[in-house]
Amino acid sequence: MKKQFIAGNWKMNLTIDEARGLARKLCDESVNSGVVDIGVFPAFVFLRDICEILRGSKVYVGAQNMYLEKSGAFTGEISGPMLRDVGCTHVIIGHSERRTIFHETNSMINSKIKAALSCGLKTIFCVGEKQEERDDDKTNEVVGNQLSEGLAGLTSEQIKELTIAYEPVWAIGTGKTATPEQANEVHTFIRNTIRSKYENDTAQSIRIQYGGSVNSKNADDLLGQPEIDGALVGGASLDVKSFLDIVSAAARSS
Ligand code: PEP
Repeated sequence: MKKQFIAGNWKMNLTIDEARGLARKLCDESVNSGVVDIGVFPAFVFLRDICEILRGSKVYVGAQNMYLEKSGAFTGEISGPMLRDVGCTHVIIGHSERRTIFHETNSMINSKIKAALSCGLKTIFCVGEKQEERDDDKTNEVVGNQLSEGLAGLTSEQIKELTIAYEPVWAIGTGKTATPEQANEVHTFIRNTIRSKYENDTAQSIRIQYGGSVNSKNADDLLGQPEIDGALVGGASLDVKSFLDIVSAAARSS
């Protein structure tokens, strides 16, 4: 049985004091038994402080994005080695907000995944369809393309360092959640796609999180699905109680 992985994407939210407070509470309260992996993804400018607060705890810290080059004339960007330098172990790549608002393409996301893995950052790779694509019955086609282009050229050793997050765009921040069956169906498709490209072991061991309006009320049903190995949580990760309720739901389904 894989450990579930619950990740909190804080997005562009919180003040530094609020971020520190949230991290301290997590540090105190999530002295987790080790049954569930937990990670938080604060804004870049808070990372160093949050890494400091959570150092020695079981809560991983990661960034919400990074640039694909290691250093150089890329004004305003942050590199993988810089994230490592301040203590991050993880990074999210290909979030739908990066794809839609900042026009990140599958090929750019592929380069970012390679850059992240090459500097030792464990990567959450996000995929997911838009509402109109689901309505047109194109979910598998869209997610299939995101997977084949996003993972192009990666070895099975590298794939093992990834978590895939299935995040239907229509469910992110909308309060609309995929039903547990809808989510499980796409997770099965994702695992089968990985199986068709890599060995069965790789497909079995990779964790696939669900993301999209996960909260303390729907977490049990979603995380109880056989192909769901955790959650990427936006809004509900900003409140320590709701986030830890989701962690508890993950522990129950382990
Ligand atoms: C997310 O940002 O990855 C996310 C799933 O957000 P929310 O939980 O708020 O829908």
